[in-house]
Amino acid sequence: MPARRLDGAAAAAAFRAELTPRVAAFRAAHGRAPALDIVLAGDDPASHVYVRNKERAGVETGLAVRVHRLPADTPADEILALVTRLNADDGCDGILVQSPLPPGVSKAESQVIFDAIAPAKDVDGFSASNVGRLVQGRAALAPCTPTGVIALLDREQIPIAGRSAVVIGRSEIVGKPMALLLLARDATVTICHSKTPDLPAVASRADLLVAAIGRAGFVTPAFVKPGAVVIDVGINRVNGKLVGDVHPDVAAVAGALTPVPGGVGPLTIAMLLRNTLIAAEARAGE
Ligand code: NAD
Repeated sequence: MPARRLDGAAAAAAFRAELTPRVAAFRAAHGRAPALDIVLAGDDPASHVYVRNKERAGVETGLAVRVHRLPADTPADEILALVTRLNADDGCDGILVQSPLPPGVSKAESQVIFDAIAPAKDVDGFSASNVGRLVQGRAALAPCTPTGVIALLDREQIPIAGRSAVVIGRSEIVGKPMALLLLARDATVTICHSKTPDLPAVASRADLLVAAIGRAGFVTPAFVKPGAVVIDVGINRVNGKLVGDVHPDVAAVAGALTPVPGGVGPLTIAMLLRNTLIAAEARAGE
């Protein structure tokens, strides 16, 4: 039997619909919409698409979204000054600096810019203090992609507690926070990465398998225990087409599988909007 398709787009639409009355209540109480500021520096085409999608979804949900578009040659200190201004701006609830910053901004400078975002407005959940809270299991603003995965599992009534979860990938934005969120929900978690020997043997022990690698079709049926739930976070462009990290043949082995596109991607945006509302409510003392 082919794997059940876990429809992330439908779930994301439902999550956004849940936000709409809360956004309206915030607006009624405070005379303004919760506000998200997105800093987009440079010409990276994928970043421009992502930001357009975030802006559109935010506006549709009733948020005030301001996009600060900066040329590719903007010096790091100007981007930093903008973040500092937004930190102090009472009308700004959430700050998102779209990654990657232009090539002229060094890795160290990028880190300084991301570190400067006030934790209370850090809707991506990447700041050291928000990551620390995530490690301690008391995150207020957790990274959007793994939060979206947990929300999808809950909506699909897929149990997490007590199950064996394997996360392939250990990035700061997906793999690590994904593992921490699964741990917080009482899964037994294994994190795999590029140096893990015999990956198929480890992965095929998982009841819940999350692929966040960035390699098209990397996860073949040999990685998958029959009936396992497989979450494909990967977004790879192959001959102009978007494909995930999970090979299509996995659908014949897995019990449930997220598609690409229409799986985790839309959930990430819905969780960004939710984080913006959470940040706005928290700043308003609600
Ligand atoms: P990354 O490059 O920062 O991390 C990739 C991880 O995969 C690393 O930890 C690395 O150890 C691991 N890895 C690489 N090669 C491996 C191999 N051969 N065997 C085992 N592990 C290996 O990437 P990222 O930012 O975590 O993103 C991962 C993928 O998820 C990308 O395709 C990205 O586009 C996608 N992504 C999707 C969303 C979404 O909303 N759907 C959000 C963020 C990232």
